[in-house]
Amino acid sequence: MIIGVLALQGAVSEHLNMVTACGATPRSIKNPTDLKDLDGLIIPGGESTTIRKLLVREQLLDPLKELVQKGFPVFGTCAGLVLLAQPESLAGLNGTVVRNGFGRQRESFETELTVAGWSKPFHGVFIRAPYLSEVSQPAKALVTLADGRIVAAQQDHVLVTSFHPELTSDTRFHQYFIDQIVTPSLTQAS
Ligand code: GLN
Repeated sequence: MIIGVLALQGAVSEHLNMVTACGATPRSIKNPTDLKDLDGLIIPGGESTTIRKLLVREQLLDPLKELVQKGFPVFGTCAGLVLLAQPESLAGLNGTVVRNGFGRQRESFETELTVAGWSKPFHGVFIRAPYLSEVSQPAKALVTLADGRIVAAQQDHVLVTSFHPELTSDTRFHQYFIDQIVTPSLTQAS
């Protein structure tokens, strides 16, 4: 199983290592030919406006949009969430994204997150993080903070987190993506 990590800007190597730790084969994605025979894609954190510009320059925006619309498994963290939720970018998740949503005071913070169905909390690392103020069907919130901000969500084959699981040693979100989204999509295809 080959999992790509969009490698135009941002926290790429940490995601590549997570993919390896989950037992899959990582691949850096820099241009449209890298998408061949890919089974899933991770869009990392960074600066969503910069990543968007680079996607256009590398002629990756339209192919990625097409993949997302066709039901290809994609996992976006932080800036990746922004790109997946913006209708004008990848339009993969129905919801309203608030960029840099935690304000200057709380540019970066860490907190324990409760994920429904998981026995232990997940350590959330937030860096100038966005959040979703609402999601609508078929998108579902996976993690909601006490104040109602949605920081992890899923819409079918699209998984997003406001925080950075790749900056921890906890592989559960990456494993969830691989086991619950990528693997079922492979069985469907064959
Ligand atoms: N603030 C960034 C953006 O909106 C995201 C920050 C990050 O990915 N760590 O693009």
